[in-house]
Formats: sequence, structure tokens, C-alpha cells
Amino acid sequence: MLLRHTPTEIRDRKALTINPAKTCQPIGAMYAALGIHGCIPHSHGSQGCCAYHRSTLTRHYKEPIIAGTSSFTEGSSVFGGQANLLQAINNLFSIYDPKVIAVHTTCLSETIGDDIVQITQKARDDGKVPDGKYVIHANTPSYVGSHVTGYAGMVKAMVKYFAQPAEVKTDSINVICGWVEPSDMREVKRLLSLMGIDAILFPDTSGVLDAPQTGTYSYYPKGGVRVEELMKIGGARKTLALGGYATETAARELDGIAKVPFEIHDLPIGLSATDRFVSTLARVSGKEVPVEIEDERGRLVDMITDMQQYFHRKRVALWGDPDQLVPLTEFLLDLDMQPVYLVTGTPGKFFEKRIWELAGDLVPGLRVKAGAQADMFLLHQWIKNESVDLLIGNTYGKYIARDEDIPLVRAGFPILDRVGHGYFATLGYTGAMRLAERILNALLDRKDRDAPEESFELVM
Ligand code: SF4
Repeated sequence: MLLRHTPTEIRDRKALTINPAKTCQPIGAMYAALGIHGCIPHSHGSQGCCAYHRSTLTRHYKEPIIAGTSSFTEGSSVFGGQANLLQAINNLFSIYDPKVIAVHTTCLSETIGDDIVQITQKARDDGKVPDGKYVIHANTPSYVGSHVTGYAGMVKAMVKYFAQPAEVKTDSINVICGWVEPSDMREVKRLLSLMGIDAILFPDTSGVLDAPQTGTYSYYPKGGVRVEELMKIGGARKTLALGGYATETAARELDGIAKVPFEIHDLPIGLSATDRFVSTLARVSGKEVPVEIEDERGRLVDMITDMQQYFHRKRVALWGDPDQLVPLTEFLLDLDMQPVYLVTGTPGKFFEKRIWELAGDLVPGLRVKAGAQADMFLLHQWIKNESVDLLIGNTYGKYIARDEDIPLVRAGFPILDRVGHGYFATLGYTGAMRLAERILNALLDRKDRDAPEESFELVM
């Protein structure tokens, strides 16, 4: 009974967050930066921030996360961190030889007001940035936004620093990928390849945070989008931005720099969102959907049809990132489930609007909230007032799962206490099959556990 003090009575809160349904901005910036090949993220702030961000990513991805820190002391906290950052840039290029240093700020350096553009320009002017190497940056004050905002900021920085206008457009398209697992980015590339589409996907953490064990440690595994590829994105004829919260600002920036028109789509999670993604690929490329993809869809539909009676009207509470929760909600509705409570700590009105559009007429008692007070505490209170059959979200929900005795399917970020999420995709039709399987098994395990002896079935 770890959360036994959570009261049933819900009071309006304006200035208090209890157990937030988000993490801090620089974690997102760090994760996105790792999606560039040969990139080392750098945290401009105190060592403690960087240690927290690295350890959260390490615990989720079960991989060592490299990053530098400006290591603020009392002096730099008062007088600013310019000297520290200049020294760090020099050290990182000399010792670790990255292609790119991706600087993000923290609450401390933002409060001081360090001007990263000016400092990094000074580093260039002083010859601390070798030829063919780059320093990019994103401002990520964590007293606003969330890890998703930080991710979006660093993806925008990739466009700002590397995109170049191109007079002649190629047949290539850009796919800007929202925050998903390395396995999911690999799945998007597989679908693009099956469709025969020439595309640049960025950021791309596949092959970086799910790199194979070779017996030799490398700072820069072979995955990640190349800088040379990022320099070509201005020549693409179209950008597809998957997950608007994480990608829209980058898509807009690219349109502004190089006049590449963009479309924003949901992440292809579940049946309907993947249908839309595949149809969009066919429309944009003018190519047929190959039979392999049609067969994958058919297998997903078959699985849903076979097991539909177990999904039927099961009430679900969800928390996490808006870009993932929107298509996940749609998928649960496709499964005939009832996504009844949703919270995200990432601010923005679009999330609530989309969920109400999708589920408002189908789910009695729907409750949706985004922003600082949309926290795990509120979600727990909703559940205490009227319970659910299933929880879907990150590791932090395990306390509610234990206290309320509700099965939990882990999804989203961070997952600190299980493995597999980095290796097995939940995007696309095959990913949806895995998601459906995990939901189904959680429900069936509970059914087995609770069944009286006379109805304990061998075949389900
Ligand atoms: S919230 Fe701010 S101070 Fe805390 S770890 Fe994140 S960046 Fe550092």
C-alpha cells in the first residue's frame, strides 16, 4: 500500500504536481541527439542534472549513455558557464572525437541566462571546433514543458543547423520521427523499404540504443542519421512528421528554411493509425502497397477477430506522451475497449481535443487532462472513484497497479523495470500485434488468477 494516502476526494489544484506524468526536458534533448551518428550530447548545467538524465536513459534502454556536462560549480552558477562550456567543447573534441556536440541547457543555465548561441560562436571563432565538426544546441529549461518538448527542441536544432535550401527537389521524402523506441524507428524504416521509398528518417536511434553486443565498446555505434543526410533534407519533396508534439516545430523550421511542404500524422501505433500511415506513403510516393504489408495487416485483423471477446468493453487507464496516447487510444477503441482515463504531463490543448474527438461519444465517463496537474496522483484518484480493468503506461504506474490490484501493461517512457521495449516494435501492424498480445495476455493472466476452480479453463 505504497500510495495509501491518496484520497478519493478530488480537489482542484493550481500550483502543485504530485508524481508527474512526464520527465524533464533535457532527457528528451539527449535522446534525440543520440539519434545522430557520431553525436555526443552535452548538458550545460550541473553534474547532478546530467547524471539524472543519463541514468534515466540508461535504465530505460539498458545501454551506456554517453554525455558531457559543463559541471557547474558555485562560481559558474553565479557568473555564468561560458568558461565551462568552452573548455568542455575543447575537451570533448580532443578526447572523444565526436562528429557533433549537441548542447542542451538545464534549469540552472537557463535561469542564469547563458547565451548558448554566443558561447558556441565564440568556440568556433577561437578555433575550438575542428573543420567538419559541429556544435548544435537546444534550449531546454525544465520548469516548462516535458521530455517531449526537449526532444522536439533538439530535432528542430538538427534542421536549423544542418538543413540547406535546394533549388531542385529529389524524389526523397523526409520522415521526422517522434519519440519512439529504436525498434520502432527500425520498423518505420522497414516499412519505407518495403514500399520502395527513398527516405531520410531522423532522428534515428536504431543501431545506437539497441546496438548489438560485439565484445568491443564504441562511443559511436554504427546507427543514427548521418550529418551528410541531414544536409540533404532541404532537397526532399515532402516531409512526414510523425507525432506532432515532438516533430511539428522541426517540420515548420524545414519548410521555412528550404520550402519542403510537410504533413503531420499520428505515430503509426495500432490498426487505424498504421492504415493512415501506409496510405499516406502510397499517396506521397505513388507506389503500390506491397503484399507483405497487406498480409501483416491481415494477420493483425485476424488476431483481433479471434480474441475480440476478451477485449470487449474493458476499461483502461493510460498515461504517458500525447503523441503515443492518441493513436493508442484509437487502437483500444478498434479493439472494442474503453480507454476511460488519460493523463499526460506534456502541456498542450491539442491532446485533450483529439481524445475527445476519438472517444467522447464512445466512452461513458471519459476523463482527459494534460499539463502540470495531469499527474499520477489525479489518475489514481479517478481510479479510486471508479476502477478500471487495465493500466497502460510507464513504470511509474506500478505503484497504482499494486495498490489497486490492477494488471499493468508497460508502454511509453520510462520503463525502468522490464526489458524488451527497445528491441520489439509497437509501431506498424506487427507492432500492433505485439501490443494486442501483451494486452490480451495481461487480461487472460488476471482471468486465470481470479477464476474459481469450476471455471478455470485450459483453453481460452
Ligand atoms: S528539472 Fe531542471 S534541475 Fe531538475 S534535473 Fe531536470 S534540468 Fe536539472
